[in-house]
Amino acid sequence: MRLTFLGSGDAFGSGGRFNTCFWVERNDGDFLIDCGASSLIAMRKQNMDPNCIRTIFISHLHGDHFGGLPFFILDAQFYSRRTNPLTIVGPRGFTERVNAAMELFFPGSSSTKQKFDFDVQEIDAGETRVINGISLTTTLVYHACGAPPLALRLTCDDKTIAYSGDTEWTDALIPIGQNADLFIAEALTFVRKIRFHLDYTSLKANLDKIGAKQVILTHLGPDMLAHVADVPETIAYDGLVVEF
Ligand SMILES: [Zn+2]
Ligand SMILES: [Zn+2]
Repeated sequence: MRLTFLGSGDAFGSGGRFNTCFWVERNDGDFLIDCGASSLIAMRKQNMDPNCIRTIFISHLHGDHFGGLPFFILDAQFYSRRTNPLTIVGPRGFTERVNAAMELFFPGSSSTKQKFDFDVQEIDAGETRVINGISLTTTLVYHACGAPPLALRLTCDDKTIAYSGDTEWTDALIPIGQNADLFIAEALTFVRKIRFHLDYTSLKANLDKIGAKQVILTHLGPDMLAHVADVPETIAYDGLVVEF
C-alpha cells in the first residue's frame, strides 16, 4: 500500500505546509484521509488526478480537514468532469456542514445536482462500517469543532492505517492505533500542552502501548517544527510517500 502526504500542516500554514490530506493508492479505488482547504492545490502540485479518488474519509469538521471538499466537489463537476462515483464520509452533522460550506463559498452550489453518483455518509463515534471495501472504525476524541471529532482506523488489502485526527491525548487512541501498520499522529507542540491538541511528549509516552509498526508525525505547529531534529519518529512533509 502506498500513502502520499499531500498536506502535512496545521491550520495556519506553519512551515509552508498544506492543510491535512493523505492520499492512499489501492487497486479498487484510491481514497483520501481528510481534505483540508488547500487539498486541491496540493493534488495539482503532485500531478495527482482527483478523479482517481473513490472515497474521502473526514476526521472532523474544521476547515483544515474538510474545507477542501467544496473545491473538490465543484472541480469534479466542472473541470475534472468526473463520471465515476464518489463517496464522502464524516461524523454526525457532516452533510449539513458540507452543504453550508459549499453555499458560503459558492452560493447555489449546494443545490446543484452532481453529474456523477455522489454519496454522503455520516458515521457515529465507535462504529465500524465497510465502505467501498475499506473497513472504517472510529472513536471519539477531544477536539472542539461543532460536531463529534473522530480518530480513524482504516483496514483494507490486509493493511491498517490509523489516524489520530486532532485531539489532546486520550486513551481512545490506543485501540485505534493498536498494532497498525501505519499510525499517523498529530504533534502540534513538542512539550507544551494545548487544549484539544496533541503534544509530542504525551504521544511519545504512549507509543509502546499503541504498538504501531510505523509512526509518522503530522500537523506540526511552529514549536514542534523547531524540534524535528530531536525526535526519532518520521516527520511527515508535503510529498512524502510511504510504502508499507
Ligand atoms: Zn487541524
Ligand atoms: Zn481541528
